[in-house]
Amino acid sequence: MIAVAQVAVPAPLPQWFDYLPPVGGTLPPVGSRVLVPFGKRRLVALVAGHAEVAESAALRSIEQTLDAGLIRPELMQLGRWAMRYYGSAPGEMVNLLLPPALRRLKSFRPAAPQWLSLTAAGRAAEARRAPRQAEVLGWLAEAPLERAELLDRGASAGVLRALLNKGWIVAGDAGAPRPPQPGPALNAEQRAALAALLRARHQSASFLLAGVTGSGKTEVYLQAARALVRRGRQVLILIPEIGLTPQLIRRVESRLGFPAHVYHSDRSESERLACWQAAADGRARVLVGTRSAVFLPLARPGLIVVDEEHDASFKQQDGARYHGRDVAVMRAHLLGIPVLLGSATPSLESLNNVEQGRYRLLQIRRRAGTAEPPTWSLADLRGQRGALESGLLASMRRHLDAGGQVLLYRNRRGYAPVLMCPACGWQADCLRCDAHLTLHQSVQRLQCHHCGATRKAPPRCPDCGEPDLLALGAGTERLEQDLKQQFADVPVHRVDRDSMSRRDEFARLLEEVRRGDPCILVGTQMLAKGHHLPGVTLAAVLDVDQALFSADFRAPERLGQAVCQVAGRAGRGDRPGQFVLQSRHPDHPLLEQLRRAEYLSFAACLLEERRAAGLPPSSALALLRAEAHQAESVRAFLEAAAKLMQHDEIEVSGPIPAILARRGGYWRYQLWLQSGFRGPLLAALPAWLDNLRSLPHARRVRWHLDMDPLEI
Ligand code: ADP
Ligand code: ZN
Ligand code: ZN
Repeated sequence: MIAVAQVAVPAPLPQWFDYLPPVGGTLPPVGSRVLVPFGKRRLVALVAGHAEVAESAALRSIEQTLDAGLIRPELMQLGRWAMRYYGSAPGEMVNLLLPPALRRLKSFRPAAPQWLSLTAAGRAAEARRAPRQAEVLGWLAEAPLERAELLDRGASAGVLRALLNKGWIVAGDAGAPRPPQPGPALNAEQRAALAALLRARHQSASFLLAGVTGSGKTEVYLQAARALVRRGRQVLILIPEIGLTPQLIRRVESRLGFPAHVYHSDRSESERLACWQAAADGRARVLVGTRSAVFLPLARPGLIVVDEEHDASFKQQDGARYHGRDVAVMRAHLLGIPVLLGSATPSLESLNNVEQGRYRLLQIRRRAGTAEPPTWSLADLRGQRGALESGLLASMRRHLDAGGQVLLYRNRRGYAPVLMCPACGWQADCLRCDAHLTLHQSVQRLQCHHCGATRKAPPRCPDCGEPDLLALGAGTERLEQDLKQQFADVPVHRVDRDSMSRRDEFARLLEEVRRGDPCILVGTQMLAKGHHLPGVTLAAVLDVDQALFSADFRAPERLGQAVCQVAGRAGRGDRPGQFVLQSRHPDHPLLEQLRRAEYLSFAACLLEERRAAGLPPSSALALLRAEAHQAESVRAFLEAAAKLMQHDEIEVSGPIPAILARRGGYWRYQLWLQSGFRGPLLAALPAWLDNLRSLPHARRVRWHLDMDPLEI
């Protein structure tokens, strides 16, 4: 027998690979970054374990140990758990645990983090004739900032150079510490939440902080972070959206007196490496990042916070399909530290975990300070011309005249979701998906929002020649146009992926909106997420009807969350807020329930329904998804797969077509694997997945497992 390293190689293959120690060297410890020959290539890989095997001529040697023991055992364990739990190829571990720069063959130097701060001259300076420079001076007046952060906010490298040359700003390797601002005195519920959390600081404990929007949850995170950082611990805060970072890091700076380190996929590879190293050696005390940051190394871990824990962006939809929140909970458990999940609209999964005694519920029932919850009303869209109900239009006028801002949520970008011919009934459909094309009028194009296909909008009906085609329904683009005509006296801002293609545009807009002048914001999901916009007094959800009749069992939950989040944007300042829900089905029981109850009782009803139907989170669900150009092959593959799963405690259903049965020319089907308890499912999956690979159709279809799927 001979000792080998079991190596995780970044290749979509279901196993570890055995390697001998480097020639003339010793076996690198688990967690080492190594260079290995793989087929004809050389790859950067991770040592995942050690084993004894029979000597064989086929064994190759590790070419070089790049960093011995780079990844700590705790993270290696987490990586192995995630691979097993999500049924991913073991090699995916390399992608999760190493930042991109460390996956490359050529060695990489981290960008020295550059913090820029104002000099005394900069403080006194007035850059009236250079508005871009003045903007940067304004930001730095609040706190020193990382160069990368300034670039994210839209400062150009040229502007920074000009300011450095004038001596108005200086660069250093860390932001100078500043006296922390104490922040508001916490109210009783906030204090109770903070105390419970800090009491648990030496143990693994999971908390769900459910607090209505604007109730001061972030203030609790910040106070907790401050207490732990003072004790020398690191705090990791996960957020769903890159767009929320500037707002949060500004608050971290103000409460803690030093800047947070930021990790997300928009940062350059060298910046991410710098952050990764600062996390690993403990220099970074507070880390803020999106889901991939859950795998950051932590030298002195103290607390993990998952903000907006209900948000679907925490789930990765390709490669290793992990859920950042659930990995965070497991990680905190392995580390023996508390994890705090926060949301105004917690997921049914987390509420179920509270009921099962796995999470402790901390509640904040009232808005912080003097802000009151908004009043609710339903606007009946039946029999109305146009996309906005007349009562809603009148309310908008009133709020704007009173100096308020208006936020309208419509989760559909583009001009119109359907283009049709009134003469012959032709509709513009995607050739490769079961979907209509969306009309984008400003660019005169039709676009498929599922596969991305686009083509020119036809000037007349391609079937019958009718010149007057009908654009049905209103997306954000059309709403913006209509609103600009009806409200010519105030700015109308559209917020969606098309209008805010660059992130700094959105940041800039938010800045402007926070200044408080009356305006109308109309946009998609981007608008609904945790932004604090104190000037908004009227918020409305323009169309919920699609979600009311969706085939997706999660649709009511998502609807409730979107509605409460949008409602929560109204009246966060000192003026009272109003919320309007517009629908053609105002009597629908779900809307009634939402209106009468606050979110937690609404969610309790939904949870009861899921239980009655045996759906998650009362059961464990995994999907085997498959797709191919021939529907026949997909079905044959899944039928054969279903036959291979023989287990008393696992119920197999399908093949079932996906809700979008054809996308990008692929037919999509899935098998549902359900079990009352997670255990049997987790135990049975690895061997089953192995067997699938030898099925006759396995190579003709694309397939993967999705554990705890969020989309069906
Ligand atoms: P959430 O994270 O729940 O949306 P935030 O922490 O952002 O809420 O708080 C909303 C607003 O209320 C912020 O401006 C915050 O500074 C303020 N705030 C929070 N807690 C208090 C408090 N105890 N007293 C007064 N104002 C508070
Ligand atoms: Zn026609
Ligand atoms: Zn398409």
